[in-house]
Amino acid sequence: MVQDVRIAKRTGFCYGVREAIDKAKEASSAGKLTHTLGQVVHNEGVVRDLQDLGIQTVETLDDVDRGAAVVIRAHGVRPDVMSRAEDRGLEIIDGTCTWVIQEQKELRRLVEDGYTIVLLGTPKHPEVVGLLGFAPDAIVVDDESEWEAAIPPRKRMALLSQSTQPPWKFEKLAAFMVGRAHELKIVNTVCPVTIRRQQDTLDTAGEVDLMVVVGGRSSANTKELTRLCEIAGTEAIQIESVRDLSDPSLFGTAAVVGVTGGTSTPIEDLRDVAEWILANAGTPEASAHAAELAHAALERAATPAGRTTSLPTPARTGAVSGAA
Ligand code: SF4
Repeated sequence: MVQDVRIAKRTGFCYGVREAIDKAKEASSAGKLTHTLGQVVHNEGVVRDLQDLGIQTVETLDDVDRGAAVVIRAHGVRPDVMSRAEDRGLEIIDGTCTWVIQEQKELRRLVEDGYTIVLLGTPKHPEVVGLLGFAPDAIVVDDESEWEAAIPPRKRMALLSQSTQPPWKFEKLAAFMVGRAHELKIVNTVCPVTIRRQQDTLDTAGEVDLMVVVGGRSSANTKELTRLCEIAGTEAIQIESVRDLSDPSLFGTAAVVGVTGGTSTPIEDLRDVAEWILANAGTPEASAHAAELAHAALERAATPAGRTTSLPTPARTGAVSGAA
């Protein structure tokens, strides 16, 4: 039975996501009619909290009334989306992550300099869609099996990455591209948050019997965390939220369980998962003190940089339920 749960350090939202959420909340509390273009983060609880503050998610600028505020999320958008928002007379609150802005600038410069661009990323991911607005002819590749066919030999090539791609994959693609280009420019745009999170997850995986990885099912950075735990020799269960947990027997004979999460997973979700495990798969003592132990695990893991938001958030309720 589970005696202890550890939450990996420096988890919770990355600074880009946190800043975008803070900007939306600040605009709303200043009395502006505020929207976010697309979900600011793929997390129902956070979207609900924002809705409670009157902040609406819209899928297109056509759904925003003239004069209202629209928050651009951390992934950024194509430049023509920005121009369209201006033309429609909307107040643009740019929550594009500073790291992504750097990527966009690099791409623009490389296109001007005549490089053929290869971008490692998930083709339909919003960050990649936005980046392609700066380099429309870029070749986007993901799995290694695609590289041979997708990347032609060219005289001058440049390689960049979506911010949350695994560093090992970027390095492998860079090595592959050496044989494809006469001149190869490598701009390492893998975000340092991604790299730190992988390291902290590996550290936690090395201390526990079982890992739980919390994040979107299609999130590349979440899947990578699961893969890394397994490479470290620690079995890992990947879930989207505490609602996916219903069977305490999943935790088998594990005495110490680690919890980590992707860059779009609020750190409070990790606490809820820790509490569920302790309450439902814990020893009688751990189960009796599940809430306090989970809170203590969160306190040990949370750093100022790992906080979900710097602004007050309404209390979240009903996140932890008993075993089904
Ligand atoms: S992962 Fe990094 S680059 Fe992407 S939004 Fe977060 S902080 Fe910015």
